[in-house]
Amino acid sequence: MRGPALLLSRRAGAALGPGWAPAQLEKKTKGTPEKQICQVVLDHFEKQYTTELGAAWSSVRDVLTSPWCWQHAVLLNRFSQCPGLESSLAMQGYHPAFPAALPYLPAAFRCYIRRAPGRFPAQKHQAGKLKEYYLLNAASLLPVLALEVKDGEDVLDLCAAPGGKSIAILQCACPGHFHCNEYDDLRSRWLERTIESFIPDPLMNLIMVSKLDGRQIGHLKPGLYDKVLVDAPCSNDRSWLFSGDPQQAVLRLMQRKELSSLQFQLLRSAIKALRPGGSLVYSTCTLSRAENSDVINLILDSCRNVIPVDISEMAKGVSQEFTFFSGTRQHELLVLPEKGRAWGPMYVAKLKKIAST
Ligand code: SAM
Repeated sequence: MRGPALLLSRRAGAALGPGWAPAQLEKKTKGTPEKQICQVVLDHFEKQYTTELGAAWSSVRDVLTSPWCWQHAVLLNRFSQCPGLESSLAMQGYHPAFPAALPYLPAAFRCYIRRAPGRFPAQKHQAGKLKEYYLLNAASLLPVLALEVKDGEDVLDLCAAPGGKSIAILQCACPGHFHCNEYDDLRSRWLERTIESFIPDPLMNLIMVSKLDGRQIGHLKPGLYDKVLVDAPCSNDRSWLFSGDPQQAVLRLMQRKELSSLQFQLLRSAIKALRPGGSLVYSTCTLSRAENSDVINLILDSCRNVIPVDISEMAKGVSQEFTFFSGTRQHELLVLPEKGRAWGPMYVAKLKKIAST
């Protein structure tokens, strides 16, 4: 039997009008809407990332524009063990994503990946039943591992919806208090639902979900947390490339500069919310230097009470499964998607607060 047809369509792309790529490789499956590349976004990325990433950009672009080669990791839920799930994953070619020798890898944290593209079937929400696993981009777990949450620590997830990293944090340790925040009303409800689907009732007492502007939390809760995750709103390269509305895409690209300022303010707030001695991890899913290293450099230049934390040991430890951009410093990493290791884009940086002001 033949597999799903690969459709290379120049004319179809042109017929869709301005903003759409003239040539698109599409995986056409019966009844599944085709993903269309938004040409205006691709052109913008082409210019920016050729300058910023050099020769690495063309292979990254090949992955980002080929959704059929995207991969999904399976993060097991330690609160809802399913006998036979791990052997079933092994039979389908999955193996552990992270080596046991990492500087920080709790035994209960189990995540599986495979080189082949595709997705393990997603689980539907069933009232009264916890889900057994969460499907995600394996690079999304690097900020969580870099945060190194220990039992009893007070933790803030500043921009938490839909909740993938909150769930991952709870696979690592049992915080003393876990504050999950999301500003957007609808996404905040999505976050609550994710938490309900994965976390058992007794642990719910430790978790608080709020709908605050993350920029205000530093003032509202100064010096309260041991660990803060700032998984910031950013220009999400993967999804922007497939924007359904070219006009909206143009508008987003024009407003892109404002994101750096929001990210900077969220980081300032996170630093204020940290206890002296506490640490934070900043992450985005864009390749854009303006939203990554530039924001962190500005913070390091303007906040004398934070220092960079070396995460290069973690990066070295996972280099079998992840490809990193070579132009970053020891306190940061940038995951570049590559065929067979199609994880990322994901930027991660770690900082430590050394004094209260
Ligand atoms: N950490 C999430 C996860 O792993 O599922 C993904 C977070 S997403 C990259 C960024 C989130 O920040 C979005 O849900 C967005 O609505 C939220 N956001 C945007 N502005 C915010 C603000 N001022 N304060 C808090 N959250 C904000």
